[in-house]
Formats: sequence, C-alpha cells, structure tokens
Amino acid sequence: MKAKFLKEFFTFPDILIMSILFLISLSFTLSGWYLLETWVALVAGMIGYAASEYLIHRFLFHLKPPRNPFFLHLLKRLHYDHHADPNNLHLLFLPVWYSLPLIAGTGAVCYLFTSDVIVTNAFVTGVIGFLLFYEWTHYIAHRPVQPISPWGRWMKKLHLWHHFKNEHYWYGVTSPVFDVMLGTYKNEQDVEKSSTVRDLERRWDKDVEL
Ligand SMILES: [Zn+2]
Ligand SMILES: [Zn+2]
Ligand SMILES: [Zn+2]
Repeated sequence: MKAKFLKEFFTFPDILIMSILFLISLSFTLSGWYLLETWVALVAGMIGYAASEYLIHRFLFHLKPPRNPFFLHLLKRLHYDHHADPNNLHLLFLPVWYSLPLIAGTGAVCYLFTSDVIVTNAFVTGVIGFLLFYEWTHYIAHRPVQPISPWGRWMKKLHLWHHFKNEHYWYGVTSPVFDVMLGTYKNEQDVEKSSTVRDLERRWDKDVEL
C-alpha cells in the first residue's frame, strides 16, 4: 500500500525532476560535510522554504483574483483550482516552471551575499529538500492514507480543515508554527464553515455584496 503511494509520488514528473536535482546538490553538499558553514546554510535553506511555504500560500495564492487574465490564469493554475479540485494530482504539486526560477533566483541572491559556491549549493539543497518534504506532506494530506506519525496525522487534519472548513486558517502544510505566530491558527470548533472554501474566486464577489 505504502509502496504504491511512494511510486505515484516519485514518478510524477515535477517531483521526479526536483528529486534528481536534490540528489545532485546533496552529493555536492555532503562532500563539504566537515565545514560548519555547510550545515548552517542547509538549515537556513530549510527554514527559508518553511517560511515561504506559509507566506506564499497566505499572501500570494489566496490573493484577490487579479483583473489581468494572465495573472488570473496563473493563480488558478497554482492554487484556486487546487481548492476547487483538491484530489487532482495535476493541480496538487507545484509545477517546475514555477519552482525552478524561484529557487534559481534565491540561489543567485545567496551567492551575491556569500560569494561562496559551497554555501550557495548547501542552501539550495536545504530549499529543495524542504520543498520535497512539503510536497510529500501535502500529497499524503490529499491521498486516502493515514500518516505514520502522530505529527503527520495532525498536519493532515489541519490541511483538510483549510480545504473543507475555512480557507482563512491553517495555511502551513508542514507545520503550524507560522499559523500560531501570525494568528491564523484556531481550534476547529471556534471557526465557522466558510461557504467559499472550494471557490476562492467567489469569496471576493461575496465581500463586495456585503
Ligand atoms: Zn495553463
Ligand atoms: Zn491542499
Ligand atoms: Zn489554500
């Protein structure tokens, strides 16, 4: 049963590409294992991804529908459509045309500050590693399977509340740390069911009518 999900996950093209890039950058990173800066950069990349996971989900993916048809199409593809059809694998994973330029840009900024190829590579390894962890957690949240760890079961529950109870809470997928810090963590019983939880575009029409 588990093998079936592992196979489905790692053979999805966007995940496969990111996994290959991860293994390549990880092998370079591990060759500098004896340097403290390698580990600092790796952890910084992981924390950076964890923060951006929350911030992008909350402040970009749940943005009011843009008038510009290109940006509207982009947001639909990146997130609105995932709320409309949460189990569709083609809408579940972040596409590489979105992730790769962002990661390359972040890596370029890291290099600008450090002028250090080893540190930059370790940072990017942390980013891609955490991206894959995010994708796996998100994937498991939407597949008919119980996560092994209590933490995983809790994360799955929170993400399903974001999808089926109220889309204005529980933006974190891998942890609720940023939800707690930034006020979007609530007990499920204290939150009203949102009527637009599957239709993010309509949320804004409703606000105008009020
Ligand atoms: Zn398209
Ligand atoms: Zn989801
Ligand atoms: Zn969402």
